[in-house]
Amino acid sequence: MTDFEGLGLNQPILRALKEIDYTQPTPIQEQTIPALLEGRDILGIAQTGTGKTASFALPMLNRLTKNPARATRGCPRGLILAPTRELAVQISDNIRTYSKYLHLRTLIVCGGMSIRPQIMQMNKGVHILVATPGRLLDLMTQGHVSLSEVEFFVLDEGDRMLDMGFQRDLQKITAKLPAARQTALFSATMPKTVSHLANGLLNDPVKVEVMQQATTAEKVSQQVLFVAKDLKRNLLIDLMGDSGFKRVLVFTRTKHGADRVSKHLQQSGITSDAIHGNKAQNARQRALASFKTGAIRVLVATDIAARGIDVDGVTHVINFDLPNEPDSYVHRIGRTARNGASGSALSFCDPSERVYLKDIEKTIRQPVPVNEDHAYHRTGSANNAPRPNNGGQRNGQNNGQNNGKPGGDASKRRRPRRSGYQSKSAA
Ligand code: AMP
Repeated sequence: MTDFEGLGLNQPILRALKEIDYTQPTPIQEQTIPALLEGRDILGIAQTGTGKTASFALPMLNRLTKNPARATRGCPRGLILAPTRELAVQISDNIRTYSKYLHLRTLIVCGGMSIRPQIMQMNKGVHILVATPGRLLDLMTQGHVSLSEVEFFVLDEGDRMLDMGFQRDLQKITAKLPAARQTALFSATMPKTVSHLANGLLNDPVKVEVMQQATTAEKVSQQVLFVAKDLKRNLLIDLMGDSGFKRVLVFTRTKHGADRVSKHLQQSGITSDAIHGNKAQNARQRALASFKTGAIRVLVATDIAARGIDVDGVTHVINFDLPNEPDSYVHRIGRTARNGASGSALSFCDPSERVYLKDIEKTIRQPVPVNEDHAYHRTGSANNAPRPNNGGQRNGQNNGQNNGKPGGDASKRRRPRRSGYQSKSAA
């Protein structure tokens, strides 16, 4: 296995890497860094957690220092686009760490942060700009940023970018990039829309794939818990009675849902906070920091806000709502079992969500075992019919008497059973 020295990076970069104990390149770094250093374009299929940030950031830094030039007002030479603020913050933090011994200025521009200081910094001149598409376009339209000097362009999390509806913004931005440039595109999955995007942006790229799509699913112990919609909150509180649920990431479909779940947890004496697109950037950063340090036990997030969550030691991911997109499921559960650790993903599934479960099982090419050993288990009627409107109780029995009844240690009391998955359908 090569070490970083063997990859051809310059001394100031190697020195910075040594300080943060990066000794061996990760597989994506091993494959991507030499190709980018040679000047090739890259199409990288990789998720966060693989080390992909360094795989594009280090060659970018190396290239920009080879040809040292003062930062020109409003004209970055390196541009990195990320779909969310959290991811952009993470990338720029990493770049600042890696470029500690280089004379390169990095600036992050994204929505939810005051635009004035960003303009002032742009005017002073920056070498590397890390941006979300909307804010970058604003700054371009107002004449504060020109992309005419960009030599190295990175588009990170291409699939999420398109899922979030940034296609038109991306077109406007990339139309302003010089044709003679180096480009790297990363995406966790490669649907047709992303291949199409790649075809338009990349020139004879080296394709690097570090994980088969959806292999995260194999590392994570998964269960589905069938439960009526209005009993999900009680089920969550029961599960949290198990002290093994140390650092828990809960996903909801909506922002309001995230707030409601977090409030309910707090009212039950469980420390938690919510993170979603309606929250100001500093509130989101604060919530994330509390989660990282363990000051709160639960972080409730929506998919969009969760994209940049890079926290080690997440013991459980709970899908309070099942996502209607299977790729989101893979991404969500990949927040646990990072860096070789083990992790559990529990999905609450109400009758109306059975159809999402089927799609997920097709995508991950495996059935999700059913845990029916909890106080709120609901078998669901045949044909996955939605629950009849019976006032929220199942079979008339569960009139709240289960509330607060300990659900016990779900992770110990596994009784895996196949859900409605048919292996044939995966073929
Ligand atoms: P990323 O996929 O870029 O978000 O990286 C995931 C995590 O791995 C981050 O916390 C990085 O700091 C860390 N990391 C990346 N490359 C290495 C490496 N070669 N050695 C050790 N840690 C790394």
